[in-house]
Amino acid sequence: MSSEQITNLFSDSIRAAIPDGSLKVSEWAERYRILPPQRADRSGPWSNAVTPHLREPMDTVTNPDVEEIDFMASAQIAKTEFLVNVAGYKIHIDPGPILYVAETEDKAQAWSKECFTPTVRVTPELRALVSEGRSRDSENTIFYKTFPGGHIAIVAATSPASLSSRPVRDLLLDECDAYKPTAEGDPVELAEKRTTTFFANRKIIKVTSPRDRETSTIEPAYLSSDRRKYFVPCPHCLEPQVLAWTEGRCCCPKQDPAERCHLKHGFVKWDHGDPRTAYYICKNGCEILPHLKPRMLAAGEWRAERELRRRAGFWINELYSPFVTWPEMAEKFLEKKDDPESLKVFTNTSLAETWDPVTGQINIKDLTDRQESYQEETIPDEILILVVGIDIQRDRIELEIKGYGAGFESWGIKYLVLWGSPAMPEVWDELSKVLTTHFKTTAGRELRIAGAAIDSGDGVHTKDVYKFCRAHGLGIYKIGEKKFRGALTFAIKGANTPGKPLVSKPTKQGRPPIWLYTIGTGAAKDSIAGRLEIKFKEGIPKPGACHFSKTYPEAYFQHLRSEKPVTRIWHGKAVRFWEPLKEGIRNEGLDCFVYAEAALQIYLQKFRVNLRQLQEKAEAERKRIDEERQKANEPPAEPAPPAMVFDPTLEPDDEDEFMIKVRQKRGGRRFIPRTSGNFVTGRDDD
Ligand SMILES: [Zn+2]
Ligand SMILES: [Zn+2]
Repeated sequence: MSSEQITNLFSDSIRAAIPDGSLKVSEWAERYRILPPQRADRSGPWSNAVTPHLREPMDTVTNPDVEEIDFMASAQIAKTEFLVNVAGYKIHIDPGPILYVAETEDKAQAWSKECFTPTVRVTPELRALVSEGRSRDSENTIFYKTFPGGHIAIVAATSPASLSSRPVRDLLLDECDAYKPTAEGDPVELAEKRTTTFFANRKIIKVTSPRDRETSTIEPAYLSSDRRKYFVPCPHCLEPQVLAWTEGRCCCPKQDPAERCHLKHGFVKWDHGDPRTAYYICKNGCEILPHLKPRMLAAGEWRAERELRRRAGFWINELYSPFVTWPEMAEKFLEKKDDPESLKVFTNTSLAETWDPVTGQINIKDLTDRQESYQEETIPDEILILVVGIDIQRDRIELEIKGYGAGFESWGIKYLVLWGSPAMPEVWDELSKVLTTHFKTTAGRELRIAGAAIDSGDGVHTKDVYKFCRAHGLGIYKIGEKKFRGALTFAIKGANTPGKPLVSKPTKQGRPPIWLYTIGTGAAKDSIAGRLEIKFKEGIPKPGACHFSKTYPEAYFQHLRSEKPVTRIWHGKAVRFWEPLKEGIRNEGLDCFVYAEAALQIYLQKFRVNLRQLQEKAEAERKRIDEERQKANEPPAEPAPPAMVFDPTLEPDDEDEFMIKVRQKRGGRRFIPRTSGNFVTGRDDD
């Protein structure tokens, strides 16, 4: 009798001792699984009481109606042990060909060396079945092990060849949201193809923290499953609930970020800014102290949202972890929240939520919460230049006055709706008044609006826009009998073509001709969405940060969140487009922001200046004002005049001295539109 035959006999006798078919994975683990001593914190016999949330996901493995398990989970939920238990159960009770896939070769090796092999070594029933990997034993290596009735191959998602050879019945995909596409295609698909021979009894098990929303495979997989969530009862009011991190924001995986959740969630709270005091606020308002968590977990249950159709889905975050406390999470969050890269990691691995690199996690309430009160008195002195974005509608003109400072930090000054048809002159007269308004900064610098970009692309009022831009292209306005200086006007038209720069080379339009600028709205929306994510503290400069006056209506912020980026196939290539969340959703505020960005870029290009030069100019101006004040022996903090006054008695002043200087420096060239170039907002272009 060969040694293999003996092993087979031995394993058969072990198998014979097992009540057939009725043993579940969680029962197997509690009866046989030993945690190796490497896990100093919890070695010894497996106990389901430590991780009660794993019982049902494990037991789903033996459910004949389940073909795929989609486990979308944070770190510290014992995902790895879950996979080791499944592998152990399969080897011992239900052997067949198993494929374990890790993100990289290093990780495949680590799983084998640090989790799987040590478990086999300390668990007698497994040690009897799996022979030890020895270099001379070609059958058993750290990447490949045989056992009676099957084998387990441990491979990396980076190696397409190993993903597409022998047939596999049980497929374990570990951290599959982190897999990178290979030349042969998506590693998950390649691995899944290997299970087709066993389609009647195969098990595909995906266990991962989610990553980016656009490329995540676990989020769509979970959403197409029966969507189970772990409900734990509040120890005070006993109401079962899904644990969430933030007040007022749903954490559940969603098809669409704008989707409404039907569950009410509680949140983690801490007092006096001290994360060590963190506790949980139940959805009914009860305060739950951290030491009550184990009791809640033990009494928890998975509830499915939908009927089971061959895919069982589980979603759980770190708030449930038996190994991490809420105060520890709060500390981690405070460390990571201000840097988008770190916040992304926290969002993925602690909250088990996908991260959208563009729309991120900012919602309308976050934006309205940070509105500032600067409009009341005067505009912030950090502002170096004022521009306006103008959206033309059938019965009104909507516009936004925006200030920009160093590093493209922006301040929304005022959002206005001027009612009246653009076919009639009245509404344009109103617009002229706005565009000739002068502002004062807190340090007393006077600023007028430098440039205004007007959308001509609606097809109805294109001629009216050209006419207005032709009359005010040089920033001279005639109101009544008097002439005033105001914003230079630029006619623009949006293009939702992927990859188009924010401002393209202008073309001549109409007679007499004016310049028409094409605006890459996608580029602008990407840039804006990214910058809306930037957190800042009032009064501390932060490049790219977006400030808004508290006079802004809530509708404006709804507009900012009215579109989402989608990836579509365009000319055979996957590209990104911005699309409305719903048909007919209002988006004028977003358009005005885009046009204000365009106005700034066109102005800077036209005069070949950059924000740094404007900053130098502002410095000089501040100095001059200080000196004047000292001369007049004035107290420096005089009450500031209202910020937005249209003063009809204002005389037209001479051409801006600064611009003359700039022109002299550049050899007398004037108003030369830059005819090429790719402009990226959010970065100074010097
Ligand atoms: Zn409660
Ligand atoms: Zn929810």
